[in-house]
Amino acid sequence: MAEQGASPANWVLPFTPHAGESDRLRTIGALAAGLAHDVNNLLSTVAGHAQLLTRDPAPEVQRRAEAILRAARDGGALLSRLVQHARAAPSPAQPTSLAQAVRDALEVTRPRWTDPTMMNPHQFLVNAELDDATVLADPAELGEVLVNLILNACDAMPMGGTLTVCVERVGANARLTVSDTGSGIAQDVLPRLFEPFFTTKGPAGNGLGLAMASRATREMGGSISVVTSDSGTTFTVELPLCMQPALVRTSSPHGTTRARYPRHVLVIEDDADNRELFAELLEQAGHRVTTAGSGTAGLEAFRQNGADAVVTDLSMDGLDGRAVAAQIKALAPQTPVVLVTGWAGASGGYAVDRVLPKPFEPEVLLRALDEM
Ligand code: ADP
Repeated sequence: MAEQGASPANWVLPFTPHAGESDRLRTIGALAAGLAHDVNNLLSTVAGHAQLLTRDPAPEVQRRAEAILRAARDGGALLSRLVQHARAAPSPAQPTSLAQAVRDALEVTRPRWTDPTMMNPHQFLVNAELDDATVLADPAELGEVLVNLILNACDAMPMGGTLTVCVERVGANARLTVSDTGSGIAQDVLPRLFEPFFTTKGPAGNGLGLAMASRATREMGGSISVVTSDSGTTFTVELPLCMQPALVRTSSPHGTTRARYPRHVLVIEDDADNRELFAELLEQAGHRVTTAGSGTAGLEAFRQNGADAVVTDLSMDGLDGRAVAAQIKALAPQTPVVLVTGWAGASGGYAVDRVLPKPFEPEVLLRALDEM
């Protein structure tokens, strides 16, 4: 129920679920279950083509293809969550950086708040103040909450305005605010805001964004509230802070860790099983991979075709990983080199960017590549 805030024009709505909402969401899930398979096939086609486009040499095409890929993955995750409603199964959660999730959501929504044609006189100014905060969340679901809030804020400013997204730590919580400088939410609309299928946007809206956001934040142990006046609206999401470090990459609907920046990676490893394993892992994450079975073959491959990053084993017959790294750095000092080694305690003194002791979690290698 809406209650009046500090100023007469300032209305505050803390959201609490009302009877019937979960039944209706379950119905949505049951309906989605019938369609999920076919739509997932369509999304796979979209993702497959976008994946191919990520190899385009133009960075702008790559950036957009990556945004399409993320959206296709998130679409698949959305479908599976709708299906989960029918089964009442919980979503998988992992330590997730809220600031990074905001950056991703801003990237996905960029076409909405920038005007590449420069034809639109109504400009959006976007401010982001993002403190480091890790929360326990399904990254795709969290992203969806953020995208909904950002798109709603843009919709609320048809003449342009300022969108401000902040993440801060407040006590044991992470607080996310998404503010716009639109004309606010009417008093008769406010109590229905989080109702499934409630929309004031006609056919352009589906009325599911805020219903989804409220359910998701509740499942994450948090809350969502709104403050609105005739000079704008602020949605606030509070989520419990998670003390574990955030995993860098989100999970795809198929559970594969995805690279944030797909690259051409040269893997140099003399053990055939490990070589295949690295190649498969990196390819599944979206990287393009060239493999070489020795230091000499690896250097030759690098000289001929180059690479965006090199992963090399340390101990190999002939030219070992240390010598390979030194030569690659001499040829192309900017190329990141990761040295993997089974030697405990090998941690420094090499001309490489990272040393990863074996065995390591796949995420560790993928994170290292993303961070470099
Ligand atoms: P949809 O965006 O499809 O309409 P939502 O559940 O996301 O569905 O939003 C429901 C309604 O809440 C919107 O139709 C709009 O009237 C209102 N609303 C949401 N966010 C804002 C905002 N930032 N400013 C004004 N109205 C908003």
